[in-house]
Amino acid sequence: NKFIFVTGGVMSGLGKGITAASTGRLLKNAGFDVTAVKVDPYLNVDAGTMNPYQHGEVYVLEDGGEVDLDLGNYERFLDVDMTSDHNITTGKTYQHVIEKERAGDYLGKTVQIIPHVTDDIKRRIREAAEGTDVCIVEVGGTVGDIEGMPYLEALRQFAHEEDEDDVLFVHVTLVPYSKNGEQKTKPTQHSVKEVRSIGLQPDVIVGRCEDRLDPETKEKIALFCDIPTEAVFSNPDVEDVYHVPLMVEEEGLDQYVLEHFGLDDDALPAGER
Ligand code: ADP
Repeated sequence: NKFIFVTGGVMSGLGKGITAASTGRLLKNAGFDVTAVKVDPYLNVDAGTMNPYQHGEVYVLEDGGEVDLDLGNYERFLDVDMTSDHNITTGKTYQHVIEKERAGDYLGKTVQIIPHVTDDIKRRIREAAEGTDVCIVEVGGTVGDIEGMPYLEALRQFAHEEDEDDVLFVHVTLVPYSKNGEQKTKPTQHSVKEVRSIGLQPDVIVGRCEDRLDPETKEKIALFCDIPTEAVFSNPDVEDVYHVPLMVEEEGLDQYVLEHFGLDDDALPAGER
């Protein structure tokens, strides 16, 4: 299994979910079996009782699961049917850990976020990925949110446990324009600093911007965030979100990801693709 972890910086509603789903679509086009997991760091067990005005419509899965509408994006972009196991919430995780504690499964131990909650998060991700080639895990919210901390810690441990070329971290961030029309990288620098302070290093940075990122903007982000310039991609505003896969494909995001995973044509023996 290969894993792509997608985090977001600066603010929510950036297009992290669409970026993640688009990346998945490109890998699917390349012939891989792709699935996705959406992590929602709220204490609700599921999205069933949440106000649609505040949170968007509840998306109902084939198994009856009432989940975040992002799962709808994944089902449409990836053309797969998902189950409620593909939506991990803090409510679900804590409920399970507390039930286990009551049943005496941790007898004698102090039950803690690390390792018990983080172990449960990692187990859920691995189970959802079973039988597929690539699993995309999108962490809801913004890096630095208190609610998201156990998940980022779980991802840090996860990456430590897996081979380096089986895990890829993508950080989606905002690149705003200043009044004089310059693309500003400061918000990105700050959010990447935050990601790194948690012990994660992005492999890929996707800048959401009105337009494509200028080459100088990419260079600046690469320098400050300690990644190659080729690992910085743009996700510009488009009229139709179904064009986003094409946008990121034009910049070679799929190729970059496949190379990182050693799944590109050059890396595979002839006949395997
Ligand atoms: P997040 O996961 O960061 O909260 P979403 O992926 O749910 O964000 O996207 C937030 C909103 O922005 C959605 O309405 C989505 O359709 C829109 N959006 C995402 N990417 C783009 C884009 N490249 N151009 C225009 N709108 C976009």
